[in-house]
Amino acid sequence: MQEYLELKEQLVASAQELTQKGYLMATGGNISIHPANSEVFVITPSNFDYMKMKPQDVCLLDMSLNQLEGELKPSVEAGMHCEIYKARPDVHAIVHTHQVYASALTLIKAPIPALFDEQVRFLGRSVEIIPYAPSGTGMLSGTVAKHVRGHNNAYLMQNHGALVFGHDMERAIHNVEILEKCSLAYLIALCSEQKVNKIPLAVREIAFSKLRKDQKKSQQGEINSAGE
Ligand SMILES: [Zn+2]
Repeated sequence: MQEYLELKEQLVASAQELTQKGYLMATGGNISIHPANSEVFVITPSNFDYMKMKPQDVCLLDMSLNQLEGELKPSVEAGMHCEIYKARPDVHAIVHTHQVYASALTLIKAPIPALFDEQVRFLGRSVEIIPYAPSGTGMLSGTVAKHVRGHNNAYLMQNHGALVFGHDMERAIHNVEILEKCSLAYLIALCSEQKVNKIPLAVREIAFSKLRKDQKKSQQGEINSAGE
């Protein structure tokens, strides 16, 4: 228990920070951390108020979804988180939210093109749509795992919400904020019915190559919570 206490404390603090900032609402959404070079991940429990959550409520699972610690049932999306970690060795933290502006874009199946330098630097070339599959199903885990191999760090799940990654939880939370800001700006731009301009292709590629460099370091476990 003691070995993973710090990790669980970090998960609780992060879930509460995301709730206070309005990205996780009531019990909607779920988050997890998979430390580099480990065979386990910690994830929020199913249907549990984040503001009342304590470290002992956090679920510790292995990569075959066996529950090693925690009395409560893990999030119904634990399988999806696990498949993402297997598909993306550079990802060590996942935040799944039902954040409003990003969710609005999932309803009109509008992927976000490269609109801002900062967006591409941290979220990837574009924010793509992952086709609909029912929550908590193997079908959803499979669809998601197939779509996240493109090295982007944010995705829109059709008629559902957002999926955001980071090499650590601090970065994943930052990426959630970038995604929501981009989603709102894009929605407003779309409403204007004027041409939406993208950043120049060359700039996009330079920003994306910086992200890829970070991802390669993360994959080798060379960057951790200390950040960049
Ligand atoms: Zn959800």
